[in-house]
Amino acid sequence: MIAMRTQFLPYSLPSLGEEEIAEVADSIRSGWVTTGPKVKLFEQEFARYVGAEHAIAVSSCTAALHLTLAAHGIGPGDEVIVPTLTFCSTANVVVHLGAKPVLVDVTQDGQMSVDALRAAVTPRTRAILPVHYGGQACPLEEISAIASLHGIPVIEDAAHAVGTTYQDRRIGTHGRATCFSFYATKNMTTGEGGMITTNDADLAGRIRLLSLHGMSRDAWKRYTQAGNWWYEVVEPGYKSNMSDLQAAMGIHQLRKLDGFIRRRRDIAARYQEAFADLPELRLPHDCPRRPHAYHLFPVRLVAGELSITRDQLIDELRLLNIGTSVHFIPLHRHPYYQATFGYNPEQFPGAECFFEGLLSLPLYPKMSNSDVEDVISALRAVVLTGREEANPKGLVECEV
Ligand SMILES: *Cc1c(COP(=O)(O)O)cnc(C)c1O
Repeated sequence: MIAMRTQFLPYSLPSLGEEEIAEVADSIRSGWVTTGPKVKLFEQEFARYVGAEHAIAVSSCTAALHLTLAAHGIGPGDEVIVPTLTFCSTANVVVHLGAKPVLVDVTQDGQMSVDALRAAVTPRTRAILPVHYGGQACPLEEISAIASLHGIPVIEDAAHAVGTTYQDRRIGTHGRATCFSFYATKNMTTGEGGMITTNDADLAGRIRLLSLHGMSRDAWKRYTQAGNWWYEVVEPGYKSNMSDLQAAMGIHQLRKLDGFIRRRRDIAARYQEAFADLPELRLPHDCPRRPHAYHLFPVRLVAGELSITRDQLIDELRLLNIGTSVHFIPLHRHPYYQATFGYNPEQFPGAECFFEGLLSLPLYPKMSNSDVEDVISALRAVVLTGREEANPKGLVECEV
């Protein structure tokens, strides 16, 4: 019998504290609840944190990606290269602009394959949109080399990579623009929210304009004493601004972020130690000059080593009160992307192999040490039971 937790351990929980509560309450009392001084402060502190010249706070990472592509004038007839192993919004925003998301395969660390990228570039390619999968930087140097060879911008989906470093510099300034997420499960949260950072002043100005109806100049100031009622719409923009209520949380989350990541790395180290003797599992790990922020802890079950499948493993863990998730169902498996663009699994052997045994373990700063040990004993118990029952003539690990 496996000792079972009495309470369900959610896959993810945010770490919000009294500082965030007090700051949100302060905004409510002040009467300024939409975009205002706290958004300005959050943008300044975020820009300083990642070392970027400009930061624009928006309503989500999806909005950040959409605005950044729109600011590049991407539209019908254009192609944007996206890894197939990502959340749907990375490619949905390309479709929203009337362009084609060109899906490419991933390597066995979940990152965009540089070879697949090289093969996917065409004269119609207008942007490369890599994802820093799981909180570890993708091979940016190789990707940027291909991008500059063709004069195409790299727009980073850094939804998992707030606080990640690459070659001794924080993610946020390597590509033309970087898009972050502050969704509830991410490294830091504003409930919902996102940020774009860039060192390109023109691009920053254009994104800011598009984020608030295409209204010229700091439109949010028009309700202050110094403000003016006059504004001009210079193009039909969007409504993607962040509110001060969100920024109130963000200011404090950002100050706690390095501590959160230290805790994430400690939990990851404990998982790595506890599962090191299980050849059935492939674990994420640090790479030289690409330290992992462990936004996710994606474990892969080696095909054929156990009598159970990934889906059964997830069910067994749920029965033991451990929540898990899967990041991600590759985009080429979704009906819309298959029907519209003709993608199919045979085109993406790397992602298929990676996805087959994939599950993400709970990993967040709010977990106690005993929560971590509960995950370890549950997963070990299920794997060891599955090993005893394993078919000796099982399949071999897929090779890509
Ligand atoms: C969460 C996520 C997004 C979307 O972020 P939102 O802030 O929820 O819009 C985009 N890309 C990836 C890889 C994500 O995990």
